[in-house]
Amino acid sequence: MAILAANWKLHKTTAEAVAWARAVKRSPLAHRAEVIVMPGFLQIPAVAAEIAQSPISLGAQDVFWEQSGAYTGMVSAAQITEAGCRYVLVAHSERRRYAAEDDEGAHARIRAALAHGLTPVYCVGEDMDQRNAGGFRRALKEQYDRGFGGLCADEARRVIVAYEPVWAIGSGQPATPEQASEVAAAIREGVGARTGLLEGLRILYGGSVAPDNVGGYLLGGGIDGILVGTASLDPIGFLALLKAVVGNG
Ligand code: PEP
Repeated sequence: MAILAANWKLHKTTAEAVAWARAVKRSPLAHRAEVIVMPGFLQIPAVAAEIAQSPISLGAQDVFWEQSGAYTGMVSAAQITEAGCRYVLVAHSERRRYAAEDDEGAHARIRAALAHGLTPVYCVGEDMDQRNAGGFRRALKEQYDRGFGGLCADEARRVIVAYEPVWAIGSGQPATPEQASEVAAAIREGVGARTGLLEGLRILYGGSVAPDNVGGYLLGGGIDGILVGTASLDPIGFLALLKAVVGNG
C-alpha cells in the first residue's frame, strides 16, 4: 500500500486541524493508502481524538533523543508515542535550517524513535548548489551514512527515508520521477552497504508534489509513497492527491 504523509509544518489552528481530519477520515479512499497526518505538537491530541477508529495514522514533526531531563522545549519519543503517534519526521530540511539539526542528531533521534516503537521518517536531500557541484550522491551519502550510523539491517528496515531535495520543497519545482528514482536507487544501495539491509527499505519522495504530478512517482520507480507539505493543507486538495495515489500506487 502506498504511503501518503501530510506534513502540516507551522500551519492550522486546532479547529482547522480537526475539520481536516473529519473530512479526510470519511473518505473510503483513506483505507486504500497508508495516510499519515503530521500536525503541530499542540494539535496532536485533538487530531488523535478525531481520527480514533479511522485508518489514518498520526505522526509528529520532530523528536528529541533524550527521554527526560533538563531539556527545555524538547519533546521525547515516549511523549509522542503516548499522544498516539506511530511516526515521526527526523531532520526535515526546515529543522536542519532553522533549528540547526544535523546528521548526528538525526541518528540519535532515529535511535530514540525506534526504541519507543515509532517509525522515523528520515528526511534527506541535497540543495541546488550541491546538485550543481557534482551531483546529489556525495551530499546524500553523508546524510544517510551518518543518520543510519551503526544500525543493523533489522533496525534500518524500520526506518522510512524521505528523499526531499531542498530545491524542490515548496518551490513549485519538483524533481522529476526519473530523478527521484535515480536517487532512491542510490539510497537503497548506500544504506544496504552500510547496514546490510538488502531489501525492504521504504523511500518516499517529497517536494512540490500536487495532484497532477503525484502519479508519476509511484509508477514502479522504487518510490513507496509521498511526503507532502503545501498540497496537504486543504482537505479537498489532499483528497485529490489521495485519489491520484490510490489510482497509481
Ligand atoms: C515538505 O516540506 O516536506 C514538503 C514536501 O513540502 P512541499 O510539498 O510544500 O514541497
